[in-house]
Amino acid sequence: MIKELQLRVNLKEEETPNILLIKSAENLGMSRDKISGIKVLRKSIDARKPKIILNYKVAVYIDEPVPKTSEYTFDYKDVSKAKPIHIVGFGPAGMYAALRCIELGFKPIVLERGKNVQDRRRDLRAINQDHFVNEDSNYCFGEGGAGTYSDGKLYTRSLKRGDVRRIFENLVFHGATDQILVDAHPHIGTNKLPKVVQNIRETIIKYGGEVHFETRVIDFKIKNNKIHAIQLWNNAELPATRVILATGHSARDIFYLLHNKKIAIEAKSFAMGVRVEHPQHIIDSIQYHCSGKRNELLPAASYSLVQQVNNRGVYSFCMCPGGFIVPAATANGEVVVNGMSPSRRNNQFANSGIVVELNAAKDFPKYEHFGVLKALQYQKDLERLAFTAGGRTQTAPAQRLTDFVEGRLSVDLNPTSYQPGLKSAPLHALLPKLIGGNLRQGFKAFGEKMKGYYTAEANVVGVESRTSSPVSIPRNENLEHPQIKGLFPCGEGGGYAGGIVSAAMDGERCAEAAAVGL
Ligand code: FAD
Repeated sequence: MIKELQLRVNLKEEETPNILLIKSAENLGMSRDKISGIKVLRKSIDARKPKIILNYKVAVYIDEPVPKTSEYTFDYKDVSKAKPIHIVGFGPAGMYAALRCIELGFKPIVLERGKNVQDRRRDLRAINQDHFVNEDSNYCFGEGGAGTYSDGKLYTRSLKRGDVRRIFENLVFHGATDQILVDAHPHIGTNKLPKVVQNIRETIIKYGGEVHFETRVIDFKIKNNKIHAIQLWNNAELPATRVILATGHSARDIFYLLHNKKIAIEAKSFAMGVRVEHPQHIIDSIQYHCSGKRNELLPAASYSLVQQVNNRGVYSFCMCPGGFIVPAATANGEVVVNGMSPSRRNNQFANSGIVVELNAAKDFPKYEHFGVLKALQYQKDLERLAFTAGGRTQTAPAQRLTDFVEGRLSVDLNPTSYQPGLKSAPLHALLPKLIGGNLRQGFKAFGEKMKGYYTAEANVVGVESRTSSPVSIPRNENLEHPQIKGLFPCGEGGGYAGGIVSAAMDGERCAEAAAVGL
């Protein structure tokens, strides 16, 4: 017999060995030796009150063993001689599209402009230390895409829970901790993600798929509105009839290519702002009602904030407790910041994007002449402005939070996790009012919601501009581009995902669509 229970455990109880067994037996009014095992289904922390509670949802197995099986099995077939599906981009969308192709009996041929996870590290070091951005290998481009050197937060607000579970189990199958199956806010961490990504690549190759790194796609050959070949950076042409385009939100050359070829794309609403960085202990003390060090049983505290300012959303995005701010530019001449954190989230800083909702239809009147590329151009201009304000290197422009809100240049800045370094700059005056003005009001409101958040001990760092794609690529009910047969826009670059999990789910869907009738 299996009984599901909700158990509340306080921090003191959490230290007691077998506390879940003890509580389950009490709850069911039976002796402990009747219980053959307990499986944690979900774990979350309730820190709303000073007495912090850990909430567990558990399955209690009575007189029967705890099964070891997963809900999903992954039936990979030998596809070495099967019909090919070409996949451009090896981020979460491309990786999951490739795995799904193999399950469906088709051979994925992946073309990725960046390098494998090991070689990619060298280019990340060059950005951080030499301020040099390799335009094919950086925090957004390379094996695993933008998701590899990230926080690996696996939350998604989208779609059915069942599909999310399948994505999670596949990550576990490829080496992620099974803790992600139970945590209410699962994350993997940047130190663990490369291995998972590498294991996924090895599965693809083992079953007969192909993964080609340093292979940038520069054109598509189209005849009678059907795709028939892909052109690579060295002008080589690969015959291809089904192409999943999973190039992410930063592949501007792909957006330009489609636009120049008169293949429809659309301007898309998105969000931009800054990244704010606090000492982690400040966030811990607010969220866990403690002064000084948090209880060691608790993870570095996170937050999620949202405020309507002048009828538009100002909100926290990709919050990284115990993490690092990273330089996420994909070209020289621009500064872009984002966040990542290791699995233990044990760095001394907490950072988060704080961004303002932007509406592509009405927020860029001075950019109308860029047509469907107006939001992209606005984004690009802001990143160039950050580059100039930062001193024309990867050093990022920054200000103390209180100085930003109160409109004065910071005499000095707080310590930071951002390796290329910070330069004091008047972001309050440099950012367009639409962003800067709304952010300043938003930060004040956040200070009301979280007492202690609004502090001179935090820095704001510019700019957080790659929250999602400023362009979308249309597709029809078959997930195909309405003008081009055989082209399947996929993942975040197409506007169909907003994070690792949703991109992975979209990758699977596109593989299924591309396989129809092949
Ligand atoms: P991408 O991951 O962007 O992958 C696209 C791939 O296509 C890249 O590898 C790129 O090199 C390749 N490519 C581009 N152009 C070409 C071309 N012409 N030819 C061949 N290949 C090409 N999301 C979360 O859910 N949780 C997080 O914690 C999180 N943290 C993040 C931290 C950072 C620093 C960054 C940058 C992003 C983070 N994100 C996070 C966002 C997440 O990574 C993306 O939403 C996700 O990776 C999108 O997946 P994708 O496959 O659609 O595109």
